Amino acid sequence: MSRLGGQVAIVTGSGQGIGRKIAEGLAGAGARVVVADVKKADDVAEALGGLALDVDVSDLDACERMARAAFDEYGRIDILVNNAGIWSSLVPTPFEQLSVEEWRRVFDVNVLGMYLATRAVTPYMRKAGRGRIVNLSSGTPYKGVPLFLHYVSSKGAVIAMTRALAKELGRDNVLVNTIAPGFTLSDGVLANQVQLEQLQEVSASARVLIRDQYPEDIVGAVLFFVGEESSFITGQSLVVDGGAFFN
Ligand code: NAD
Repeated sequence: MSRLGGQVAIVTGSGQGIGRKIAEGLAGAGARVVVADVKKADDVAEALGGLALDVDVSDLDACERMARAAFDEYGRIDILVNNAGIWSSLVPTPFEQLSVEEWRRVFDVNVLGMYLATRAVTPYMRKAGRGRIVNLSSGTPYKGVPLFLHYVSSKGAVIAMTRALAKELGRDNVLVNTIAPGFTLSDGVLANQVQLEQLQEVSASARVLIRDQYPEDIVGAVLFFVGEESSFITGQSLVVDGGAFFN
């Protein structure tokens, strides 16, 4: 039997970028994948033999519809990867100049959205007595990266949420862990000239492994956190950044 043996995985924000590579990795390991994105990605789902859903994770009803649709289609939900997030559209901005609207939008998607997607799937996982949740944080809260205060704060909240959720869900055998990538050349980032100019070279040269980071670099950590070999690990955060930050 394949590694994930027909398990069902929802990956939010998997229409492109890191989420898409994670969805491909999970499908390659034998999972049936739900490609949940605010921009419905039929092409990605079709290529993976999965299910495409149109979901804004910052909307409670949409998240509940997502979980119901996944369960109706496949009869189980084993894995949630909370990947949807706002990062690649952001540009470096001194904290006093951030708009309240942008701050709220970042928190609505990166923090509230992660909470709502988690809240929507956990009844199914609890009933099954098992589940794996993997949250995408970032290296930025560890390093205190300047000029993205809303983003850095939101990703710090992800680490805190992971720990507290791991405690609430442990009795139900639902494991919650975080992956914190470094600056990654995702589809979104490749379209943001300002981020590329200001962050690409400085990020690569700060690593022990001196090269760019790609979405593929994150997939192995996800497979680890959803696999049997991590069945006694929960509430943890794994930095995947080529050795730029030592946790
Ligand atoms: P990306 O911009 O390439 O892709 C993000 C995807 O999420 C898009 O398909 C987008 O449509 C979707 N999305 C956005 N808002 C959504 C919403 N409200 N509901 C559902 N889907 C939504 O992004 P990426 O660079 O691949 O980043 C993916 C995740 O990884 C994010 O959480 C990001 O914060 C995190 N991350 C990225 C980097 C990086 O440098 N690229 C580093 C660390 C962490």
